Amino acid sequence: MNEDLNQEIKSNKQYNPQMHSAEHILNQTMVRMFSCGRSFSNHIEKKKSKCDYHFDRNLTEEEIELLNKNVNEVIQQDLIVKEEFYSKDEALKMFNLSRLPEDAGEKVRVIKIGEYDACPCSGLHVTHTKEIGVFNIISTDHKDGVLRIRFKLPDD
Ligand SMILES: [Zn+2]
Repeated sequence: MNEDLNQEIKSNKQYNPQMHSAEHILNQTMVRMFSCGRSFSNHIEKKKSKCDYHFDRNLTEEEIELLNKNVNEVIQQDLIVKEEFYSKDEALKMFNLSRLPEDAGEKVRVIKIGEYDACPCSGLHVTHTKEIGVFNIISTDHKDGVLRIRFKLPDD
């Protein structure tokens, strides 16, 4: 783990491990439901967050409801979130590393959420998924091949 990056993340008060962990689960749920890619761009904040996906249309009400339900079912399983380290060569076989920073180093940190999701990431996460709380999609829209999903978690 890059200590400087860790400090930088911790000192950013907007950074929210609950939100960020929810993003991992949302991405995996999108991949499983729609065979699309993980979000290519996102904005994660304590109050509300958004994730953008390359997608050919907006979601229907039923799909939004099901997506919301599926994400919450994963959260409610209280899966353990843990980090594992792989060499770059190993990681390249398993993951798309195009979003990894250039200076990520020789070891790639992978965040695993139970058996549900695994994704290279240098951020901060919860240790159990129930810490995330209830996931709520606020809205979705679609423009120029991009599906945007806005969501929030309970205020505390
Ligand atoms: Zn992460």
